Amino acid sequence: MECRVIGMWGGFPKKNGPCSGYLIQHEEFSLLIDCGSGVLPELQNYIDLNDINHVILTHYHYDHYSDIGAYLFSRLVNTQLGRVAEELYVYGPEDEGIQKQVEDVAYSRFISFNETNQLDIGPFTCTFMRNIHPVETYSIKIVCDNKSIVFTSDTSFMSNLISFAANSDLLITECSLYEGMDGEGSGHMNSRDAGMLAYQSKAKRVLLTHLPHYGDLDDLLVSAKNQGNQHIKLAESGMLIEL
Ligand SMILES: [Zn+2]
Ligand SMILES: [Zn+2]
Repeated sequence: MECRVIGMWGGFPKKNGPCSGYLIQHEEFSLLIDCGSGVLPELQNYIDLNDINHVILTHYHYDHYSDIGAYLFSRLVNTQLGRVAEELYVYGPEDEGIQKQVEDVAYSRFISFNETNQLDIGPFTCTFMRNIHPVETYSIKIVCDNKSIVFTSDTSFMSNLISFAANSDLLITECSLYEGMDGEGSGHMNSRDAGMLAYQSKAKRVLLTHLPHYGDLDDLLVSAKNQGNQHIKLAESGMLIEL
């Protein structure tokens, strides 16, 4: 299983720097996790849009889903041009408006999930945990070929994430805030929270993501590593992690 970071900025994109998007691949099968602002143009540096038929959205904040509308239209146009024959499946928390938005565009389907569901998508088994965030949001665990990836999406620290992410081969944890800042009200983690999660879950490799647009990002790394797990890096657009 491989994970390509497409984008990692929190809230809004930078110039040529997309928000949340992760391309998960195993033996020619591709799954996109999140499709935030700026993901669609960046994604095409690595894969033809027609070669992805499954997109999971963790929640409906623009930095995680705003490019899905353009993706739906690309599938419509490319199907009519005969370039692709498969429908685009979009998975997300239940939401009538989003479901209508997806299904109003031909050749696209919507499937909802919550923490009671397991989704089997190609070779990937996906399970979910409800986050602490202002809108319905899920952490995702993807298991394939005895390897696991856990992506927290957006959440305040919660202790049950430790067991959810236990011994994961790759933990992609949000790290929106610097140590000392309080994420409880905003539904985000600071670097100390992310580091604690990395250490206590015993994740084998860790990426800090959903990064802030201010401060020195290396301070996030130092603070997170100080909690005990040394296998932590800052996520970067284009980064490939092979498991
Ligand atoms: Zn976000
Ligand atoms: Zn959010």
